[in-house]
Amino acid sequence: MKYHSIKGCLSNLTLLESAEGLLLYDSGSGAGDIARLEKYMQEHLQKTPADIKLLVISHMHPDHAGGAAILRERYAIPVAAHERLDKWYAGLGGILQHRVDTYLTESIMGKNIFKKGELSYPRMIHPDHRLKDWERLPIFKEWQTIFLPGHTSHDIGLYNEKAGMICYPDMFMNINGTIVLPVPVLFKEKMLESLQRLLDLEAQIMLPGHGPVLDGAAAAEYIKKAQKIIERPINNSVRIPFLLSHFTPELWKERRKGVMSPPDTL
Ligand SMILES: [Zn+2]
Repeated sequence: MKYHSIKGCLSNLTLLESAEGLLLYDSGSGAGDIARLEKYMQEHLQKTPADIKLLVISHMHPDHAGGAAILRERYAIPVAAHERLDKWYAGLGGILQHRVDTYLTESIMGKNIFKKGELSYPRMIHPDHRLKDWERLPIFKEWQTIFLPGHTSHDIGLYNEKAGMICYPDMFMNINGTIVLPVPVLFKEKMLESLQRLLDLEAQIMLPGHGPVLDGAAAAEYIKKAQKIIERPINNSVRIPFLLSHFTPELWKERRKGVMSPPDTL
């Protein structure tokens, strides 16, 4: 099993080579990252994205799902994602959350947040394949889904037991030697369960949505740190983007069910 962790503007596009062909995990932020993918594939594989047989989206944030519509339109690549993906930006709250997330991402990308940016990022993806937890992927039967919610309601990773490999969504990041959690962690209890689930699989190669590829030992150490950090109050530097992530109807649905208490930081 060969992998390529391709660095996009903000996140990685992970290309997996197997006997069945090419599988892509995440599509970057938009047109710029698709150009990076095209260039990488031409230079390293003498192929084009038309050779990709399936795209799996980890979650609906702009830096991971931004290029999905382009890839499907330009190269007819089918898109797979968790079955709740399109609930994230549904309804009035979803429209507002989509605007806010797009502007936040554009501001991180260095664009003027008051101008319409280059993010080609539709509010709904309408996946061709709607995935559940622990399900074999279409075409790529060695890969199965792992539901890893916490950052959002629908984060999904990919697990290949034979290769000891996991592609995982936004769960923890090493920024200049410090382990940080993604912003936001809207579902704290779910994130704790997801981190433990990731740890228990004991993969040897961990392919992240952000940052360098990790070996199993380093990833285990980072996960244990993340499990401790998550118990701490929210850092002041991320409080505003955290609070601006509360419009999605998925959050309020969980609250209404009573399974989730309001965050102690509000
Ligand atoms: Zn995210």
